[in-house]
Amino acid sequence: MAARLEALRAQLPETTRLLAVSKGQPVSSIRALVALGQRSFGESRLQEASEKQQQLVDLEPLDWHFIGRLQANKVRPVLRQFATIHSVDSRALAERVSRIAVEEGLRPRLFLQVKVRPDPNKGGFDPQELRELWPLLLQLPALQIIGLMTMAPLGLDAAERTQLFAACSALAAELGLKELSMGMSGDWPEAAQAGSTWVRVGSALFGPKS
Ligand SMILES: *Cc1c(COP(=O)(O)O)cnc(C)c1O
Repeated sequence: MAARLEALRAQLPETTRLLAVSKGQPVSSIRALVALGQRSFGESRLQEASEKQQQLVDLEPLDWHFIGRLQANKVRPVLRQFATIHSVDSRALAERVSRIAVEEGLRPRLFLQVKVRPDPNKGGFDPQELRELWPLLLQLPALQIIGLMTMAPLGLDAAERTQLFAACSALAAELGLKELSMGMSGDWPEAAQAGSTWVRVGSALFGPKS
């Protein structure tokens, strides 16, 4: 794991940060990465993340990012346990996150998930829909909308992925957003090349799951 972390650090541009996606990984692996200086971790299931966070309370607080599909009834606990959410994928969800953040006195950092290409298997804003909703989303209280998140559909080649990430990057620039959450184990080089500021890497860091 140390070697994979070193290799990733060596290859990532200075402006691209590494989110270690620790879903499905034991806390011992998280501890090992923390010992190597990694502080930002991504989890996609609330229950699993809560258990790990409890087992890691002896450490300096870590930077937890929620990257999974966010169910309406999980918004409150997710806001309490994660400072950053990558998967706000609809107007209704953004409004709910805003309302509950106000109640909780929190200012969550959010990525809006965008579907650059139509993909029936994934949630996310259609780009044109997002442009139209943007003035409304900007006015929602308590939210820090910091960037866009996208995932490339399976089956694209590297050139197509680069193009898709570049389109997402252009949309973020158009909206005045600085952060981009793009790229996973299989496609982070193209995402980084397109200006991603956060790559979400699981298996290429922790190794294949046993
Ligand atoms: C699991 C997951 C990742 C990491 O996937 P790897 O292919 O293991 O790097 C990244 N982003 C999201 C949203 C995920 O669910």
